[in-house]
Parts: sequence; C-alpha cells; structure tokens
Amino acid sequence: MKLHPAGKLSPMGVLDVGRKCPHSCIFCFYSFYDGSEKQFNYLRKAKFLPKEQLENLLRYFVKWGLTHFEYTGGEPSLHPDIVEITRYAHFELGLKGRMITLGQLLDRKVRKSDASLLDDLLSAGLNDFLFSFHTLDDTLYNKITGGNLLKLKTVMDILDEKGFSYCTNTVVNGLTYKKLPELASYLIKKNTRYHNFLMMRLDWGWENNNMRESMALGYKGNYTEVAKYVKEATDILDENGIAVNIRYAPYCIFRGYEKYIVGYKGRQLDPYEWRNGTLKASEGIPSLTCETEEDNYTKRIPLFESDPVYNLAFSEKCKECALRIICDGVDNNYIQANGWSEFTTYEGKKIKDVVYFRYDYPAPFWMKESQYESMSKG
Ligand code: SF4
Repeated sequence: MKLHPAGKLSPMGVLDVGRKCPHSCIFCFYSFYDGSEKQFNYLRKAKFLPKEQLENLLRYFVKWGLTHFEYTGGEPSLHPDIVEITRYAHFELGLKGRMITLGQLLDRKVRKSDASLLDDLLSAGLNDFLFSFHTLDDTLYNKITGGNLLKLKTVMDILDEKGFSYCTNTVVNGLTYKKLPELASYLIKKNTRYHNFLMMRLDWGWENNNMRESMALGYKGNYTEVAKYVKEATDILDENGIAVNIRYAPYCIFRGYEKYIVGYKGRQLDPYEWRNGTLKASEGIPSLTCETEEDNYTKRIPLFESDPVYNLAFSEKCKECALRIICDGVDNNYIQANGWSEFTTYEGKKIKDVVYFRYDYPAPFWMKESQYESMSKG
C-alpha cells in the first residue's frame, strides 16, 4: 500500500493567533521566554494579533496553495474574535482548520445565548481539534497544566456524541510518562483518530533562564526510560486503529518504531504536520520560506542544524550513523547533563530521504482525509 504522497509538502499552515495564554503547562516552550524569573510571565502579558491581520494571513494561505491550517498560540480559544476568524477561514476561504487547545475554555458563553464557544466554533465550520491531553490523572493534570481535566473530558464526550472525531497531543515528560499506557487505553474508547507524542524539548524559552538545569531537565525525564512507556502506549493506540506520531525524538531511542517519528526535518513533508515558513505569523507577517520540497532540503534542514534556537546535538559517533542526515539529534542541554551513552548508531547505507520510514505507515495520512470526507458528507 503506498498512500504516502511522497514529494508533496504539507498543505497545512500555522495560524499563530498570538501567545496570550492563561494556562500553566510546566513544559511549555515559552516558559521564561521574556527572560523573566516568572515562568509564565510572557504568556500572561502577550497580546493576541488583531483579526484583520489574521484574516490577511489566511488569504495568504490560499494564495500559497495551502488547504489546511493549525491554530496555535497561546490559547487560541481565548482570542476574542476566534469565532469570526473561524467562519471567515472555513466559509469564505474554504480552508480547514485544526485548533490546538487545552479545551478549558470551550464551555464558556461568548454570545448572549445558551450556545457555548464549542457550539459557536462548530457552527462556524471548525474542522478539527488537537486537544492537549497530557495525563489521565486529575491531580497530576492540574499540577502540570493548572487546568481541570474534567472540562477537557466533557468537551471530548460532547464531540463523541456528535460523531465528530479529533486529534490529541501529549507532551511526554518525566512526571507523567508511566501513565501513558493508561492514557492510551482511555483514548481508544474516544473519538480520537490521531495522537501525537511530543518529546519535551529544552530549547526555546528554556534557553533564557538558568531554571533549565534545575527544573526543565527534571521535567523532561530520561529518554530510554520514557521511551519504554511511549512504545507501550503507541502499541495500544496503533492496535486500535489510532494513528500515532512521535515528535522530536532521536531515532535510536525508538528502534523498531522509526515509522512513527516526525521531527523538525520531516515535518514539512508530512501532510498531518504544519509547514514551516508561516512562523512569522506571530509578528503578523505572512512568510512562506519552504515553497518546494527542494527548499526543505536546501533551506530548512540546514537551518535546523545550525540555528542555536533548536540546539540540536550530534556526537562524533553520529557521523557514522546511517540516519545522521534525517535525524534531529538530541537536545544539547540533555547531552550536557547525561552524555551520549544511550544513543547508538545505525549500520548501513546513509538514508537521505527525511520521510524514508513513513512510506510504511500511511495511517496518519488517510486518517486526515477520513475526517474531511466525513465532515463534508455531514
Ligand atoms: S544520528 Fe545519532 S542520535 Fe540520531 S539515530 Fe543516529 S546515533 Fe542516534
């Protein structure tokens, strides 16, 4: 079976609505982002981008040939014009959006009616959600996000009743990883059709603060130990027909699970992941630097390897590894604390195709289409 549209770039742009966020996820990329001593200071003070600027960006998505987009932030559901923006994107422009959210604010009423924000977004044509669902333990959920797990579960229950399928995201971290199989067993009973395991990263905002060593490394956990539970959870999801991606992991930690891995280098070629190059959206500036597959190899991959913001590390031994070209390597900060002993090279011919292992795994690709088909029929 060859369903992978090899050679095609992802059709998904990023609608970064602004970084404002009321949540307190301990592993957030934007922790200490403004250099403040307060972990979430930047997120609390950040502003949303105006509706007009976001609508302009959506028009660029159409111009660039993108058909889908992901709402990110901050917390996109908090944007005051999110319903109007959604209506414009879906009904005026014919785009299809997937909203990344912690699902905590979807029960609020934003109009003078009984309709919830969830109802309003669905009426405005919203196509998909990517719920951040990090653990099934209520107390732990509150500890790591500041949120109420019951709120998220209620939203998912409502969508299940409507027959609306969605996606889920888990940041894999040192506090919750042992409960990942339990989480997977819960998700297989829900309308989840696709799940992302995001290995916590130590770059971005963590670079701005010396809390990285005392706090972030502890939150991250040990790759080898954590991977055992991610693999078990992946098996549960996969056996039950849920597509799985594992993001930002060195291949050698997930031997036998390579087909699930999507990193910085392959993301632009994965139809279920977003296209880099719309990131200047956070400043309101439309920008698409990766226009062709060739651009991914000549512009994006060298950037990930050299830009200190990604802080990717490779050992001397990695140079001999068959997957060196396509691998994202390891967080440099992790290596400084733990060394290279966990990471072992692959033998054989050098692999150059960043989606080499993905040809064997069409699930994330047809999972995407199935939602759109069922929605358009509905
Ligand atoms: S390049 Fe290095 S980190 Fe990546 S799979 Fe090979 S040995 Fe592991």
